[in-house]
Amino acid sequence: MARIPQHFIDELIARADIVEVIGARVQLKKAGREYKACCPFHNEKTPSFWVSPDKQFYHCFGCGKHGTVIGFLMDYDHLAFPEAVEELATRLGLEVPHEGGGESAARRGDEPLYTLMAQVARFYSENLLREARARDYLLGRGLTVETIERFGLGYAPNSWNELLRHFGGGDTERKRLADGGLIIERERGPLRDGERYYDRFRDRIMFPIRDARGRVIAFGGRIIATGEPKYLNSPETVLFHKGRELYGLWETRRAHPNLRQLLIVEGYMDTVRLHQSGVDYAVATLGTATTAEHFRRIFRLVPAVTFAFDGDRAGRAAAWRALLQALPEAREGREIRFLFLPEGHDPDTLVGAEGRTAFEERLKSAVPLSEYLVRELSEQSELGHADGRARFAESARPLFAKVPEGVYRELLLERLAQVVGLAPQRLEELWNPGRAAMVPATPVRRAAPRGGAGAGRGSLVRQAIVRLLHYPGIAGEVSATERAGLDASEEPGVELLREILDNLREQPAELPAQLIQRWAGREGNDSLQKLLEREEVITDAPQAAGELRAALVKLADQAAGRRLEALEAKSRAGGLAPGEFEEFQRLINRLGHREARGG
Ligand SMILES: [Zn+2]
Repeated sequence: MARIPQHFIDELIARADIVEVIGARVQLKKAGREYKACCPFHNEKTPSFWVSPDKQFYHCFGCGKHGTVIGFLMDYDHLAFPEAVEELATRLGLEVPHEGGGESAARRGDEPLYTLMAQVARFYSENLLREARARDYLLGRGLTVETIERFGLGYAPNSWNELLRHFGGGDTERKRLADGGLIIERERGPLRDGERYYDRFRDRIMFPIRDARGRVIAFGGRIIATGEPKYLNSPETVLFHKGRELYGLWETRRAHPNLRQLLIVEGYMDTVRLHQSGVDYAVATLGTATTAEHFRRIFRLVPAVTFAFDGDRAGRAAAWRALLQALPEAREGREIRFLFLPEGHDPDTLVGAEGRTAFEERLKSAVPLSEYLVRELSEQSELGHADGRARFAESARPLFAKVPEGVYRELLLERLAQVVGLAPQRLEELWNPGRAAMVPATPVRRAAPRGGAGAGRGSLVRQAIVRLLHYPGIAGEVSATERAGLDASEEPGVELLREILDNLREQPAELPAQLIQRWAGREGNDSLQKLLEREEVITDAPQAAGELRAALVKLADQAAGRRLEALEAKSRAGGLAPGEFEEFQRLINRLGHREARGG
C-alpha cells in the first residue's frame, strides 16, 4: 500500500511554522507566548482561538476545534490528508515521498472513477463533432472552436442508454457510472431486458467541471433548444461537492500563474464567453449561492473578488444573498465588490456586445461591499427623516454583527454612523447598550476539571500519557522491562498508553504535534488532544522522564499486586496450576523488594 512515510510527516510538522501557516489565513494577535484570533470555524466576536508555537498546535475554546498544522489545513482549506501534506511540503520546498510507490490508497481508490470521468468527457466531445445541431448552437452563441476545445465542451446524445452501452459493460462498470452520477437507477425496477439504469444527461451541451488539478469531476448539461430544466448538474458524488467547486477555476489558474482577482458569474456560458473575450479570470458557482467554502477557496487564491449579477430582480436577490455570505469574510486586505449589469444582459451577452475593454471598465466601477450594503439599506429606509435613519440603523445592526473584528469593521462602523448621522461610538452604544461600560473581554481559559490540575494529579495512566505527550522523546528512556510491566495492567486507558509507548519507541518523535498527528483519526485521539490542551506544570524533559518511569513502575506494581491476590485466593481454594507457584514466588519477591525499599 502506498503511503506517506511517518518520518516525513514528522519532519513537516517540525519544519512548518503553525503560526505562519494559520497567520496567512487568519489574523493572529500575539498574546503572551501564544497567538489568538477570532475562530475561523465558528462565529464569534471575542477571540477564543489560540495557536501555540511551543506545542505547534491550535485550539478553539469556543467550539472545541483543535489540531496540528496539517489538521488545520484539512479543516480550513478543506483538503484531504495527502493534499494538506502536499501543500505544506510545497511551501517548504520538499518533495513528498511515497512508500510502495504511486499515490495514497485513498486516492488510488478513486482513481478508476477519475479515469472514467475523463473518458466520458472525451466521449461527449466526440459526440459534439457528430451532432451538427449542438455544434451550430455553440458557434451561434459566439464560441470559437478553440474555446470549445479549451473548455472541453461536448454533447450528450439524445438517447436513454448511449453512455450506458459505451461504458457500462459489466456490473463494476455500471456501479462506477452510477458513482460518478452519470446514470440513474430506475425507480420502478429493471426493464424487461433486465436494464436497471438510464443515462442522466440526454441531448444536452456538456460542460466538464474540473477540480483544482484539472481532473474532470462532474458535468453541467445545458438544454439546446427549449425545455426543462435548462441546466442539469451532476449530483453530489465522492468527487464532486458543488458547494466548494467553481467552474472555470482550473482554466483561470492555468491562464494566470499570479492571479490577483476573480470575477464570479452565474453561468457556464458566461464563464466560457468571458474567457474567450480575454476576461480570463471569470469563474461560476454551480447552481448554488456562493458558500462560505467558496469564499475560503477564493481568498486563499486572491485578495480581490467581484460578483457580477444580472440587473433584474432575481439578480438583485442573488446579490443580496452573496452579500450576507460575504460579510463574515470581510476584512482589511480583502476586496469584495458587486457589479450590476444593465437589465436584460448577462455577462455572456454583454461582453459579446461590447468587448473586453468596455466590460473591464464596468468592472472598475463595481460597488464595494460596504457601499452596496449602505445603498440597499438606504433604499429601504427614508434617510431624510429621523425615523428612516433609525430604521436604517436597526437593519444594519445584524449585518454589521457578522463582520469580524478588525480595521475593516471599524471603517464600516464609521460609514454606517455617517449615514445615520451619529458618532460611531454612539451608534455602537445604541446597538450594544452597556457594552462600552464593560471591561474589554479577555478569553478565560477553561479550568482543568477538578482533581485534574497540576502535574502530579490524575490517574497513573494519565500522568504517564501527559508526560509522553509533552516530551515524546522521553519514550526512549523507558527500558524494555518497564514497558513489559505494563502488559499485565488493566487500568482504564492503559491500552492507549501502551500503544503510544510502542509507537514512540519504534519511531521516536520530539514534538507533541508529531504525536498528535500520528493519532489523528485513531482511537484515543480525542483524549490526547484534551490532555495536551490542559496547562500542565512539567518543567523539563529529564523531570518528565523520571516521572514517567515512576508511573510505569507503579502501574506494574499495581498489576502485580492484583495478580498476587488472585493467586493467593486460588491457592486457598484448591491449589495452583503448574507454573503458577513460580509466578507467585516471583511476585512476592518483586513486591517485597519494593516494600523493603520503601517504594
Ligand atoms: Zn471555534
